[in-house]
Amino acid sequence: MTAKKKDIRALTKEQLRAFFVKQGDKAFRGNQVYEWLWQKSAHHFEDMTNISKETRQMLEDHFVINHIKVDNMQRSNDGTVKNAVRLHDGLIVESVLIPTATRTTACVSSQVGCSLDCKFCATARLKRMRNLNPDEIYDQVVAIDNQSRLYHNRPLSNIVFMGMGEPLMNYNNVIKAIDKITSPEGLGMSPKRITVSTSGVPKMIKKMADDDVKFNLAVSLHSAIDDVRTSIMPFNETFPLKDLKESLEYWYEKTKRKISYEYVVWKGINDSQKDIDAFVKFCKYVPCKVNIIEYNPIDDGHFQQATNEALENYINTLEKNRIVVNVRRSRGKDIDAACGQLANKS
Ligand code: SAH
Repeated sequence: MTAKKKDIRALTKEQLRAFFVKQGDKAFRGNQVYEWLWQKSAHHFEDMTNISKETRQMLEDHFVINHIKVDNMQRSNDGTVKNAVRLHDGLIVESVLIPTATRTTACVSSQVGCSLDCKFCATARLKRMRNLNPDEIYDQVVAIDNQSRLYHNRPLSNIVFMGMGEPLMNYNNVIKAIDKITSPEGLGMSPKRITVSTSGVPKMIKKMADDDVKFNLAVSLHSAIDDVRTSIMPFNETFPLKDLKESLEYWYEKTKRKISYEYVVWKGINDSQKDIDAFVKFCKYVPCKVNIIEYNPIDDGHFQQATNEALENYINTLEKNRIVVNVRRSRGKDIDAACGQLANKS
């Protein structure tokens, strides 16, 4: 065959059924193959043991199964595992397994590199090369689920879209991947255990609300003052806080689900009382909870974790205003697997 073979996993179940009918076979054969491709994550047509040899050969002639490959796995001394994941075209993304006493969380990537330019994030320094396909997102989850079973004797419990990339800039593929992850024909996970984290693309937040998605939303806020936010997250110029606020109100109106704000406190950047007060005010727009994330330094030293005193001040003020605050200790720092450190170093 000279023509480039198509990735069979780009087909929907209906398309696969139709393909078999066109080949003079039964539509049901499509269901069987679909099950192999998704639920059983088969990497080769020859693994599909309930499909005849001739049919497998016919599939081989028409299609490929593009699979990710975990190229390099690093284990932190806190149990965190970072995977360098090779895509079919040779590009690499990273995904992370984060174990705690009761959960295993997969932190997955949605793009190769990132189109945004957050000054404090290592991924922002990589050019955005392309969006990940739904199957490439799905495969990261499967790989981490397998690692969770192997190292922790339990299945994966949670997924966060906090790896490389801005998920809402690859919305359609992220949604398709989540559909597969939550479908009984895929991994059958509850959408309540999935969180999509965005730096805040108002138009897409509204679209998610309209689409009635069932997963959780986290917004990387880091500042509730436009000038400050624009200085550390320059796209805030295009999507200012006023628009973000409006989209979050719309989200809550439609979904009635709380939003999480991700927030890092930096010395001299957002650690003053004025910053805290603006954040508290922002937190009152819609029901929310706050995750204060420890800063993970990325080489140049411009950004520094605020003092404990400044952090305490944030936490106390938020709590006084009855806002739920969690402080997230970093995991996997020793292997550059923590938030904002994913940059294909190895
Ligand atoms: N683009 C999405 C998801 C990827 S970033 C988003 O912005 O939400 C995942 C989280 O890590 C975000 O909350 C981001 O603000 C945070 N982050 C980025 N760089 C960081 C760093 N150096 N230290 C701590 N958190 C960081």
